[in-house]
Amino acid sequence: MSILVFVENNKGSFRKKSFEAVQYAAHVAQQTGGTVTAVAVGTITSAELEALGCYGAQKVLHVTDSRLDDFSARAYAKVLIEAAKHMGAKVIIASHDTTGRAVAPRVAANLMAGLVAGAVSYPDLSNGFAVKRSVFAGKAFAHLNITSDIKVLTLMPNTFQVQKGAGSASVEVLDVAFDDRDFALKVVAASHATGDVPLSEAELVVSGGRGMKGPENWYVLEDLAKELGAATACSRPVADSHWRPHHEHVGQTGGTIRPNLYIAVGISGAIQHLAGVNGSKTIVVINKDPEAPFFKAADYGVLGDAMDVVPRLTEAVKRYKQNA
Ligand SMILES: Cc1cc2nc3c(=O)[nH]c(=O)nc-3n(C[C@H](O)[C@H](O)[C@H](O)COP(=O)(O)OP(=O)(O)OC[C@H]3O[C@@H](n4cnc5c(N)ncnc54)[C@H](O)[C@@H]3O)c2cc1C
Repeated sequence: MSILVFVENNKGSFRKKSFEAVQYAAHVAQQTGGTVTAVAVGTITSAELEALGCYGAQKVLHVTDSRLDDFSARAYAKVLIEAAKHMGAKVIIASHDTTGRAVAPRVAANLMAGLVAGAVSYPDLSNGFAVKRSVFAGKAFAHLNITSDIKVLTLMPNTFQVQKGAGSASVEVLDVAFDDRDFALKVVAASHATGDVPLSEAELVVSGGRGMKGPENWYVLEDLAKELGAATACSRPVADSHWRPHHEHVGQTGGTIRPNLYIAVGISGAIQHLAGVNGSKTIVVINKDPEAPFFKAADYGVLGDAMDVVPRLTEAVKRYKQNA
């Protein structure tokens, strides 16, 4: 079975979510006795492409057109459709990020394929091709059996383990003919999120809510995040009040994250907030109200004032690191 996986590069290098997608594809290939071909676009070195072999890709199809350095859902979908036809692909995989969410449905519609968006499990092949995704704001799982000949999946980032192995993928240039309509929508400017760790891929996240009282108090969360090497996030009212930038807003109407550790400070735990974070492996809640709903979803709860608890936690992390 031929398996295709879309890997988007960021200024010439791949991010963790791409390796995750390739390794997921390799796992499916193992289950089905298939082969993994990654599909890359735009300007990137052969060394970067070959290194996808360390995550299980046997081959990389590279569409070199430099116009693809800027995102175009239409052009990227065309690339994947052409690559799928070229390889006779039966399974097509992408990350469930902004790009994957825009491109995968176009590809699925064109190839008459069933699509599972936001998969959180490997396919269960015991009775078809069943994949799990979370539904109802993370309150339940749906097990979806894709019955079409071609299957398209987007993967929830930070869900599957990534382990670098050895190997080198062969690289083949794929020619795709574009027309002007494929680039009708142009990216004129892109502003990049600040901070060392991109939120969508962060394994540790320190997040603040309205209980922080105002942007002037955010330094305590930033200090903790810096000590931990974590990304920062926030609840929606915080972003709406311009205390923090909108790209940090998580929840039903914001980003969905699945870090190993989510520290929620001064956040009540409304269902709309939980929808974006309840896939976190460990949740720590710091809140001064013992009745705050977030405590019910927490693995660890600290009852106390944020301005008192968080600096003490930061000091404890510092001490731990010094003694480690
Ligand atoms: C359609 C819809 C979509 C929504 N989407 C989202 C979304 O995507 N993301 C999201 O976050 N919200 C979303 N919301 C809003 C959501 O319902 C809540 O209103 C919001 O999450 C509350 O934010 P908060 O917890 O920061 O603030 P609050 O509800 O005001 O809670 C503040 C918390 O801080 C605690 N606190 C106060 N002072 C301190 C202190 N000194 N130390 C420690 N704790 C303290 C309080 O006890 C309280 O629990 C949505 C709402 C709707 C209707």
